[in-house]
Amino acid sequence: MEKVALLKCESYDVDLIESKIREGFQLLGGEKFLRKLIPLNSKVLLKPNLLSVEHKESPVVTHYAVFEAVIRVIKEYTDDIVFGDSPGFGDGRKAAEKCGLIAVAEKYNVSVVDFNESVNAKLENSLLCKTWTVAKAPYEADVVITLPKLKTHAMAYFTGAIKNQFGCIPGTGKATWHTRMPKAENFCKMLLDLNSVVKTSFAIMDGIIAMEGNGPKSGSPYNLNTIIMGESITAVDSTAVRLIGYDNPLDTPVLKEAYDSKYGAVLPEDIEILGEKLESLKAKNFQLCRKGGDFYFINPKVTNFLRELIAPSPHLVPEKCISCSRCKEVCPESPKAIEMIDKNGKKYPEWDMKKCIRCFCCQELCPVGAIETKQSALGKLVSGGKK
Ligand code: SF4
Ligand code: SF4
Repeated sequence: MEKVALLKCESYDVDLIESKIREGFQLLGGEKFLRKLIPLNSKVLLKPNLLSVEHKESPVVTHYAVFEAVIRVIKEYTDDIVFGDSPGFGDGRKAAEKCGLIAVAEKYNVSVVDFNESVNAKLENSLLCKTWTVAKAPYEADVVITLPKLKTHAMAYFTGAIKNQFGCIPGTGKATWHTRMPKAENFCKMLLDLNSVVKTSFAIMDGIIAMEGNGPKSGSPYNLNTIIMGESITAVDSTAVRLIGYDNPLDTPVLKEAYDSKYGAVLPEDIEILGEKLESLKAKNFQLCRKGGDFYFINPKVTNFLRELIAPSPHLVPEKCISCSRCKEVCPESPKAIEMIDKNGKKYPEWDMKKCIRCFCCQELCPVGAIETKQSALGKLVSGGKK
């Protein structure tokens, strides 16, 4: 049973929010819990939602008062705190400056880190993706605390703790993922894998003023008056979607995938809500947004076109291939994106690039290293020269 703390908080008064966050940690286990979450002298990275360059009271981004309240609490356990994000639109530092986060950070000697600096990472027990290029700062932090804003999202229906970490993909690399994984099922698996790569440790969700309607950028503010906290990002998101009107969390694509993949607690019976009763904070007439369900970049045609142009692709080194067919067996696409073809009396894999989602499981699991990844010049430019 996973635990989340559900707090009622009716304003962005920083002292009030601080007291609520302390109450939340108390409910989750108090001092002992905090000491385990933030070991002595550990480096903590805070990951707010900075989708774009927005003004201080904008419902698009995590409010600066929530950010300040979290720092006040965490500061008692470590002096090594940094924060950052790679916005979907615009520059991370500018976004942090405009919405007031830089001013708060300077007050507490917290530094902003550049999420464009990336690192290549591997994820062994992945749901889908084994090789990654992610922002170096969250990857190397000891403790990653996500600070999502509770918002509607046209494609994902909802964005919270799990989806917030998409900002750990540097810059335009995010567009590449949309072209690689336009199907909702794969994109959601990728988001869950990403949370494993950066090891998201805890979530504190800003649902004081949430966003309804045409989210995640053009919706309307909604006074939901809540903060949700917990170690389990699936449990935090599940609680959030129930508050805004999804009585069954499996009606949202990311949580459906999390449940199907046994990634974490999703069903109400597997989550203990501490603090306020869910019923007492449920939104009335909250305007949901369910436009997509798939994660096409603009539309399927543009997505496929861009995928050919910018996404890296697997290539065979024929002289190394031992014709074992493992690449075909591990390909998660159905029907398979690889067929074994006879050439000069030997079987070689051949790829159907229209089906291939570039998860690179075949490359990763080839026993003799006979598959390499190649990228076009444009793809290299888009991803900053990394794979
Ligand atoms: S897994 Fe490697 S060695 Fe086996 S068939 Fe595929 S490319 Fe060849
Ligand atoms: S062919 Fe390789 S990279 Fe493409 S979907 Fe299959 S396993 Fe993934």
